[in-house]
Amino acid sequence: MNADSQAAPAGRERIVMLQTGFGEGRRFLAAWQAWRDAGDDPQRSARLVFIAIEPQPPTRTELSAALRTSPWPDLARALLAAWPPLTPNLHRLSFDAGRVQLLLRVAEVQTGEAELVASVDRFWLDEPARGSALDRIQAPALHLCKALGRLAASGALLSASSASPELRAGLTTAGFSVHASLPGDGPQAALHATFEPAFSQSLAPSARRHRAPARSAAPPNPNRRALIIGAGLAGCAAAWALAEQGWHCSVLERRAQIASEGSGNPAGLFHGIVNAQDGLHARFNRAAALEAQRAVQRATDEHGVQGSTAGLLRLESTLELRVMQATLARLGLPPDYVQALDAAAASARAGIALAQPAWSYPGGGWVDPGGLARSFLERAAGHVALRTGVKVHALERGAGGWRLLDAHGEVIDAAEVVVLANAGDAMRLLADAGPPMLTMARSRGQISTLPAAALPFAAKLPITGAGYLLPELRGRVIFGATSHADDADASVREADHRLNLAQLQRLTGCQFDIDPEQLGGRTAWRWVTADRLPVIGAVPDVQAFADPRSRSAPRSSPRLDQPRFVPRLPGLFVFTGLGSRGITWCALGAQVLAASVAGAPVPLEARLIDAIDPARFSVRRARRCGAA
Ligand SMILES: Cc1cc2nc3c(=O)[nH]c(=O)nc-3n(C[C@H](O)[C@H](O)[C@H](O)COP(=O)(O)OP(=O)(O)OC[C@H]3O[C@@H](n4cnc5c(N)ncnc54)[C@H](O)[C@@H]3O)c2cc1C
Repeated sequence: MNADSQAAPAGRERIVMLQTGFGEGRRFLAAWQAWRDAGDDPQRSARLVFIAIEPQPPTRTELSAALRTSPWPDLARALLAAWPPLTPNLHRLSFDAGRVQLLLRVAEVQTGEAELVASVDRFWLDEPARGSALDRIQAPALHLCKALGRLAASGALLSASSASPELRAGLTTAGFSVHASLPGDGPQAALHATFEPAFSQSLAPSARRHRAPARSAAPPNPNRRALIIGAGLAGCAAAWALAEQGWHCSVLERRAQIASEGSGNPAGLFHGIVNAQDGLHARFNRAAALEAQRAVQRATDEHGVQGSTAGLLRLESTLELRVMQATLARLGLPPDYVQALDAAAASARAGIALAQPAWSYPGGGWVDPGGLARSFLERAAGHVALRTGVKVHALERGAGGWRLLDAHGEVIDAAEVVVLANAGDAMRLLADAGPPMLTMARSRGQISTLPAAALPFAAKLPITGAGYLLPELRGRVIFGATSHADDADASVREADHRLNLAQLQRLTGCQFDIDPEQLGGRTAWRWVTADRLPVIGAVPDVQAFADPRSRSAPRSSPRLDQPRFVPRLPGLFVFTGLGSRGITWCALGAQVLAASVAGAPVPLEARLIDAIDPARFSVRRARRCGAA
């Protein structure tokens, strides 16, 4: 065994490694190969998560050239095939059915570490291929080392290619003991260390690490079993992501079929967004769209799902082309993620004469959401049991965890971990579990469908802007959609078809005369939060806000000024508020949820985790009332 595999804590659920300076992926491939070589060795960790922070990773072409002589050609090919557009994100690349994950953070080391939520067993501080060399980041060395200390698991090992006095001092301050060498480590490393903070030596192991409640795993659950309420996109994606973490789930659905409510349209689209500030929404949507692309690709290639990842156009109605191009250059967004096209180029791509410039998302597209939901369950096969026609009436906490009750008060099932993926009905169940912590608005949406031959054009790609048009599916095109707040009418309305037709004419700039009676349609509801972001994570214990000690005795009570510090109800998670972007958000949302449940590194930056944290509403409310 080499140093990489020796570093694995024997028989642990997962080994987490972190490297600064990914280079050409040699360390990752070596670690992956060592993990594979350990095969059925009971000492091997069941999962390998390798986190790499690299400000300028190689492009696909550079990586391809570098990996040509790799000693691990199969792994090199798989890495190359999964290589993402190099947007400033935390990218999740998944291999060996999710048991090996590479989290690639495209950022400078100093900022990259601060945004990670993980517990790391093995660090390599290597020089980034480009960007700031370790020796040149002396000024913030202490800051960097504190971040390492925050990420380090007890006993974590560290090797660095620099042994600068600043790094040495910083590591010591952060709780690392610096050694002359580490057993099995190669001669390349200039500095070796172990995380054994002096201040925690006198404490019991369980008391040594103080993670914020939202950053802590669910209570240890030897069965690794969860109950998921709802089999729409959220529930089915959650089952898949939990299966990748080695969990077994029962999914309980009140309807006879999966994806019969919000996720029941014949098709919908997915894509990222660009905004000049690159704020939380743009960054979350970008990360989500990249994960959605992989999920849809898998669904269409391997599960026979209708859909495409061949690109999408979003028409721009206010910005000029040069402003769009300047924005992309300033944000450093690469053309394999998004491009700004003039009207002529957009028209050529769309197959329709368009009068506006457009954002082109080469990896965006469309999919049948019900098919995508099915593909998630199929990918979780062996780890998931689906029970349809089962309505969860109430939720109650008992000694053994959570019990799900039917309308007669009979227990349907019980488990230590429950995930509420039941869209708007999650609010009702949560209200039973404590004071209200979640408010979502309901928006009625109607799509329209039409025989493709009735339109004077044929779109080659999905086109969106104000409204959207999808390419032909089984002889029909789908377009829409309307949006009406607080409207409970489930019928398909002719007036809404007219709205959709008018919107389609504005979108395409094309006039046509179509009788609304020719149209088909479907009505469903979106559940939307006030900040237009989803709700994903452990359910807060909102009693903490009601407890007067939280104001009068701040030293003994939890901090309530940031979502991550808010105490949680043990084992209760929620995944809802997917609004009008559930197709785009479900795969990433599920991975974030599953990582939180299983205590795995979370494939999303800390600030974005806070932005979707279910506790954010209570924190904001408390701030407004001066309670936090
Ligand atoms: C008209 C329209 C167009 C849209 N277009 C797009 C688009 O183009 N792109 C995009 O990304 N998104 C789009 N969306 C949004 C997307 O469809 C939703 O965000 C997504 O489907 C929500 O998934 P979900 O799993 O949260 O909810 P749902 O699909 O509604 O699933 C919730 C499930 O929970 C079940 N359930 C509820 N309560 C219980 C209970 N007590 N016990 C058991 N089961 C229960 C329900 O039966 C349901 O199956 C659109 C939505 C609408 C309405």
